[in-house]
Amino acid sequence: MDAFVYNANPGRVIFGAGTLSRLPAEVERLGLARVLVLATPVQESSAQELSRQIGSRSAGVFADARMHTPVEVTERAMAVVAERRVDGLVAVGGGSTTGLAKALALRTDLPQIVAPTTYAGSEMTPILGETQGGRKVTQSSPKILPEVVIYDVDLTFTLPVPQSVTSGMNAIAHAVEALYTREANPLISLLAESGIGALARGLPRIAKDPRDREARSCALYGAWLCGICLGTVGMALHHKLCHTLGGMFDLPHAETHTAVLPHAVAYNRPATPVAMQAVARAMGVEDPAAGLYDLAKSLGATMALRELGMPQSGIAPATEAALANPYWNPRPLEKEAIRALLTSAYEGARPV
Ligand code: NAD
Repeated sequence: MDAFVYNANPGRVIFGAGTLSRLPAEVERLGLARVLVLATPVQESSAQELSRQIGSRSAGVFADARMHTPVEVTERAMAVVAERRVDGLVAVGGGSTTGLAKALALRTDLPQIVAPTTYAGSEMTPILGETQGGRKVTQSSPKILPEVVIYDVDLTFTLPVPQSVTSGMNAIAHAVEALYTREANPLISLLAESGIGALARGLPRIAKDPRDREARSCALYGAWLCGICLGTVGMALHHKLCHTLGGMFDLPHAETHTAVLPHAVAYNRPATPVAMQAVARAMGVEDPAAGLYDLAKSLGATMALRELGMPQSGIAPATEAALANPYWNPRPLEKEAIRALLTSAYEGARPV
């Protein structure tokens, strides 16, 4: 076995159907007296309901979380935190709501309880990406990592099938890159393979019946494992490309991951045979790049970046941007091959 370094992140996880009912007890356990419940406008009613359940320990709701954590929104939430003398944060939602809780925790070190409702995995990471003036800046700090995560399977029933599929593919992307990152280690590889397998089994069943509790459990469990991968080891080309494309063309997060992943895998495939075997084994397919493409496409995902809003004229500048700040990748970054990767993802072609 090769030498490796393993870093574990602290955190308490409560998993299962109906587990959100434990939230008031968790607020009490942390000794919090004035928690602010965070959500997006779409999930405001869930946040109001939670605030009622928390009762006298709730300081109310802030339901204006937005994608990519705009600093302007965080500053408005900071004013509410100060005004209501908030001593803890509860986030119910996807990566956008978790992002707001993390941004507030970075500035205040307030404890966070997060109840994820998508498969993005942000709740497992000490990483925060914030946007200001059209630029997304990512940073990492122990203050950002949530203290408690309540994975209540029932919260995911309302996640529409298209979003379930793309969010699940976003999770799979974390695990795929964890298998071939420079910091790969045997424990994370176990979690990664299990996480990919759980999502690859769960997503097709969710597409048939979004209220299939077993399938939802399987997918959420997989998302947790994939989130640990993202929070524990570094990522590579795929995450870098998605970050670049999202920032340059304002593309939707999970959908962009879905369209790019098969092509990033095809790019790295020649350099990562062991990782590729693990992905193929987890998914029960011959070829991981084609397998990921077929899984997402068969469940109705949009596989062409052009359909997500990327202009064709963007391929050249995105190629330059991907090469501008060199970073580690298992296969060296080659300009023409990256341009070909982006062209295939732009067109939504099946990788060969
Ligand atoms: P999201 O949080 O933006 O959610 C998309 C929409 O779906 C929102 O309107 C939300 O309210 C709604 N929604 C979420 N769950 C729902 C449910 N169960 N039922 C009905 N509606 C629901 O989407 P996301 O993909 O989870 O998060 C994307 C954001 O998270 C991006 O900003 C991305 O950068 C960030 N992210 C960060 C990390 C990290 O480690 N820092 C990891 C992954 C994603």
